[in-house]
Amino acid sequence: MNNGHWEFEREMSPKTHQGFVYLIINKLTQRVYIGKKRYFSVTTLPPLKGKKRNRKQFKEMAWRSYTGSSVELNENIEKLGKSNFSFICLCECETQAELTYTETKLQFDMNVLTDVMPCGERKYYNKAIGAIKFLPPKVVAESTRNKLREKAYLLPRGTCTHCGYTCDIANLARWHEDNCRDKPNEQPNDIGPETSKGKT
Ligand SMILES: [Zn+2]
Repeated sequence: MNNGHWEFEREMSPKTHQGFVYLIINKLTQRVYIGKKRYFSVTTLPPLKGKKRNRKQFKEMAWRSYTGSSVELNENIEKLGKSNFSFICLCECETQAELTYTETKLQFDMNVLTDVMPCGERKYYNKAIGAIKFLPPKVVAESTRNKLREKAYLLPRGTCTHCGYTCDIANLARWHEDNCRDKPNEQPNDIGPETSKGKT
């Protein structure tokens, strides 16, 4: 395999992919960086004589030895040596959109801007997600999250005719009305005629 310093389960393939999302781990501190790397750079060239459309020139980049775009991380690598770092390819992406989405999604999901290690140091070298820079963590309040859930997932409410309990219609149908524990027991009427017939 010719994956350079990247650990990956198979041969990395610029022929079929636009780039990859990676993880770089400082093995001494367990501090990490999540980023993406494109396999190709794109240069726009002027149109050929007599043509109108610009041309695009794709050039494979030096991704095999790439050490991430974080200045702090690269200073650490310089100081401690590459052998103290793991370079892991998480996945390859077939389109630029997938590449951008995957990187951003992982950075948000892993809380790269706010996560802190037991020692108090930030877990991630990342200082931005897309255009969002690292600021003293202004965590989204749980009450804000709850408000979103309440509004976005709000279902109409109704009241059970048997017990008078009020809740959303999904729960009403599931636990009340015909399924309500307080629903009058109609069993005697339902089986009544047959039973009485039999008895008479
Ligand atoms: Zn009920």
